[in-house]
Amino acid sequence: MATRTPLVAANWKMNGTLATIRPLLHQIKQGLLSADNPEVTICVPYIYIQEVRDVLQGSKLSLGAQNVSEHLSGAYTGEISAPMLADFSCRYVIVGHSERRSFYQESDQIIADKFMKVCAQGLVPILCVGEQLQEREAGVTEQVIARQLNEVIHKAGIGLFENAVIAYEPVWAIGTGLTATPDQAEEVHGFIRLQLARHADAIADKIRILYGGSVKAENARELFSRPDIDGGLIGGASLVAGDFLAICQATR
Ligand code: PEP
Repeated sequence: MATRTPLVAANWKMNGTLATIRPLLHQIKQGLLSADNPEVTICVPYIYIQEVRDVLQGSKLSLGAQNVSEHLSGAYTGEISAPMLADFSCRYVIVGHSERRSFYQESDQIIADKFMKVCAQGLVPILCVGEQLQEREAGVTEQVIARQLNEVIHKAGIGLFENAVIAYEPVWAIGTGLTATPDQAEEVHGFIRLQLARHADAIADKIRILYGGSVKAENARELFSRPDIDGGLIGGASLVAGDFLAICQATR
């Protein structure tokens, strides 16, 4: 089995101002100076990318974006392209977050296009998948996850998953304080790995699958101890330096 380096990704969403992100970033950077930390990336609002890039320079932390256009360039007012993110040294790009799927009607097809644009720039997509509460209750979690994954695999090709990350984020657990139990999360992570293995064993073995959904310092260690959970995508708790650092340490 491949040894997978844990990854913890902060998703600041649309939070913060310069006055709050500067001290937050400084504390996170200071707290992650020691060698035995996981890989950490901070996915920030577009407008702070340059600021955060400057602060992170020379550190082991990388920079990430929360979204990207499905187009390469052109008349798409207000959008940001993958080449623009590459220009500013972004390493990771979240695609298909449930908030993008639900508030901005992003379809599996659009998400697949975004995934491909990110890969084409040599950046790493963090592809989010996850079921709604009604879907879990109806017993169709696996069908939903399989559809979300397969649409991207069919359009982009399994080869692009060689350099991708997947985040399993049950929608009912995002920002709600409800967390999937480690057993529930591990079951879906195992299912995702199995789906990928149907196309390419080596990629399924190597790919990092993060869990996201109300991860906190108190529940992180147990989640991350499961064999198919390779780290976390952290929303609310990434806005509090102490909480985020405790989550990073829980990967050890
Ligand atoms: C997220 O935004 O991806 C997320 C998991 O948020 P939270 O940790 O706040 O549930």
